[in-house]
Amino acid sequence: MPDVQDRLGRPLRDLRVSITDRCNFRCTYCMPRETFGPGFRFLPRADVLTFEEIARVVRVAAGFGVRKVRITGGEPLLRRDLPSLVAQLASIEGIEDLAMTTNGALLARYAWDLAGAGLKRVTVSLDSVDEDTFRLMNGVGIELSAVIAGIDAAAAAGLGPIKLNAVVQRGVNEEGILNLAEFARGRGHTLRLIEYMDVGESHGWMLEQVVPAAELLRTIGQRWPLEELPAGYPGEVASRYRYQDGRGELGLITSVTAPFCQSCTRLRLSADGKLHTCLFSTGGRDLRPLLRGEGGDEAVQAELGAIWRSRSDRYSEQRAEWKPRSGGPKVEMSYLGG
Ligand code: SAM
Ligand code: SF4
Ligand code: SF4
Repeated sequence: MPDVQDRLGRPLRDLRVSITDRCNFRCTYCMPRETFGPGFRFLPRADVLTFEEIARVVRVAAGFGVRKVRITGGEPLLRRDLPSLVAQLASIEGIEDLAMTTNGALLARYAWDLAGAGLKRVTVSLDSVDEDTFRLMNGVGIELSAVIAGIDAAAAAGLGPIKLNAVVQRGVNEEGILNLAEFARGRGHTLRLIEYMDVGESHGWMLEQVVPAAELLRTIGQRWPLEELPAGYPGEVASRYRYQDGRGELGLITSVTAPFCQSCTRLRLSADGKLHTCLFSTGGRDLRPLLRGEGGDEAVQAELGAIWRSRSDRYSEQRAEWKPRSGGPKVEMSYLGG
């Protein structure tokens, strides 16, 4: 099958697969407790794709040029028997890179099984190495030591190079950035600082809460001089820097201050089988009727190809141009995955 291009000429290369909308954290910037409290209705089990259904979509996507798959959520480690999904995805022809993004709290328990099943790398979200700030931001008081144990287990199991993702919020964790960088450097992991984004509608995002990546780069570069590196591959979202003392790399994800829609080659599959062509989507195209109907793979292929060909998303660039968009509320990050 030939590769597909969208209306702006972008090929399809990455698929992010959210396998659950549930999470054991309530990060203030993603699933604030006021919205995601005890009464919140998560997806009913019957609506969530089975591992076989997910593998089928990945197989079709691989036929259109997808080479990288990232398992995400919600918290992917909450899904029972995850290594069996990993094994199915790892065996799909064309998939060269299979990674997972996790909050890390359960990673110490599963790292070896996941590596054994064929997972290549993990990205662990870690917003602070200050215990109080970490507990406050995860919203449920989970201890830092649980996540650090997960990171260390992943490294021991060979799930690297490991990336640590931190969302930086003005007045919340910006003070702890140097400590976080020191932690990552000390363990040889790449820290990626993410500008706080207006994904979803539940967190009351305000531009003033965004710490521009350029400011973070200055702060870190003054302590440990840095030099810029070329992109690792076409479409890489992070700008990369190398510590001049040879102690690893730093990544900056500048979705707000310097959007990178022009090179966006990502498609997203939600836990209930909807394809979304942008992180800031207001709705996806439901594949479940096709996956659970009689049509076979051809029907899924036709739909997926048509969805990508008609895509023209460039939300972050439009935000930067101050072009407000119509189309109703955006879907939540915990539903779609990062
Ligand atoms: N639960 C897993 C985790 O936290 O790693 C995977 C899903 S989480 C939605 C994926 C990534 O999205 C995390 O690295 C998280 O920090 C990031 N994220 C969530 N809300 C965000 C926001 N408003 N702005 C920027 N990044 C966000
Ligand atoms: Fe859960 Fe990840 Fe969202 Fe935090 S960022 S609430 S860990 S899905
Ligand atoms: Fe891609 Fe949408 Fe993000 Fe732009 S805003 S980089 S199109 S996901």
